[in-house]
Amino acid sequence: MSASILDGKFLSQKIRASISADVLDWVEKGNRTPKLQVILVGENPASETYVGAKTKACKDVGIESDTLILPDTVSEYELKGVISEFNKDQNTDGILIQLPIPDHIRKLSIIEAIDHRKDVDGFHPMNIGRLTVGQPSFRPCTPAGILEMLNYYSIPTKGKHAVVVGASNIVGSPVAVMLSRENNSGKATTTICHKFTKDLTKHTIDADLLIVATGQPGLITGQMVKEGVVVIDVGITRVADHTTERGYRLAGDCDFDTVAEKASWITPVPGGVGPMTVAMLMKNTLLAAKNSIYTD
Ligand code: NAD
Repeated sequence: MSASILDGKFLSQKIRASISADVLDWVEKGNRTPKLQVILVGENPASETYVGAKTKACKDVGIESDTLILPDTVSEYELKGVISEFNKDQNTDGILIQLPIPDHIRKLSIIEAIDHRKDVDGFHPMNIGRLTVGQPSFRPCTPAGILEMLNYYSIPTKGKHAVVVGASNIVGSPVAVMLSRENNSGKATTTICHKFTKDLTKHTIDADLLIVATGQPGLITGQMVKEGVVVIDVGITRVADHTTERGYRLAGDCDFDTVAEKASWITPVPGGVGPMTVAMLMKNTLLAAKNSIYTD
């Protein structure tokens, strides 16, 4: 078998076109243009690229955005003060802190400082908690993008064995929750693996749907999956490559060629999950502007 491509670039453009029309309609009805406030702490080339992609997407769909760049010496107290101001600002609909942030700042404490009604990344415990019990919430963008993609390509998850490799708060854990929920899109039997999992292959080989989010390039090889598996490769790692102009290439967590040989569907890296994440951020920002999730 040779896998068909789950084309995140194509699908994200389609979604973005629809969000763009919704934003226009919202503004034409006399509402304020939705606004995303991005906060970037310190200098990190990958983060700068991601923020650039997000603010460009905002521009393309008609959402206003602003990026505040803070030095990596900023204290947790100062950063919370900045967030508090954006929480109060009536013209700010969504707040996004680009991760990672410097080690001297407690990440979870910063995420909790964001008003959950403006948490368009969907990382706040209020949103994660509501997601877990099946209440409306901002859904974390990468997991939401994955579910959206499976739905668009009519890939069934009900009753399937979904194996998630990687258990982070922003990808692995929430996507596992979404896939396993009985009352909405998932309905899968879900296994979560992480760096302490013994004999990873024992789990991956049994997957009907394999989601990999580890940041370990080439971790999953063709020998670790079964024929016909659907593979979502979330990983994006810069790997040194002096044959390219920029000196690196982007690598996923799967050894694409050997895995694609056996899979029925697979996401490319880049062009798979990444653009879907950005599209979901646009969707969440518009939802925030419309107060569609939290109406109080
Ligand atoms: P993380 O570092 O927070 O978590 C990594 C997870 O992988 C952990 O649960 C860890 O236990 C597990 N892991 C690490 N090595 C492993 C191994 N050998 N076997 C099994 N599990 C292992 O990472 P994250 O923030 O979830 O990101 C994961 C990857 O996804 C990164 O490459 C990141 O850049 C990428 N990412 C992509 C998008 C996107 O939009 N495409 C969004 C977020 C993250």
